[in-house]
Amino acid sequence: MTDNSHSCQALVLTCIDFRFHEQIARLLHDQGLESFDLKCDAGAVKYLVSNEKPEVKNWILENFRIAQGLHHIQRAILINHYDCGAYGGNAAFKSHAQQLEFHKNQLMQAKDLLKNEFPGLHVDTYFAALEEESRVKLVAI
Ligand SMILES: [Zn+2]
Repeated sequence: MTDNSHSCQALVLTCIDFRFHEQIARLLHDQGLESFDLKCDAGAVKYLVSNEKPEVKNWILENFRIAQGLHHIQRAILINHYDCGAYGGNAAFKSHAQQLEFHKNQLMQAKDLLKNEFPGLHVDTYFAALEEESRVKLVAI
């Protein structure tokens, strides 16, 4: 075993929603991401961005600190998704475009916050759309 066995490339922050996990992991793997830590939280970046639950926000940030310290992550990958119950699901939005725009804004706020907290960290953001036959598509934001 080498030291590298305890390193991975990224911490992925995504929602708890079961519909997305398997496909997100496969899509990230297809993009060349071989190993990553995974933090699932209802709403993905929701409580990182809002001050509604500061204990959750702090705990998510602590997970990034732990992943950096233990697994030397270089990247954060933030993934919000379509029809997210933590945001009120599809019913909370007038259209798909409005929903995408909303999540784009959430993800940008989360990216700014993480860049501020972890200056060396590379942050990628995605919106996981749900297409026909429950197929997940990752849209880079
Ligand atoms: Zn969700």
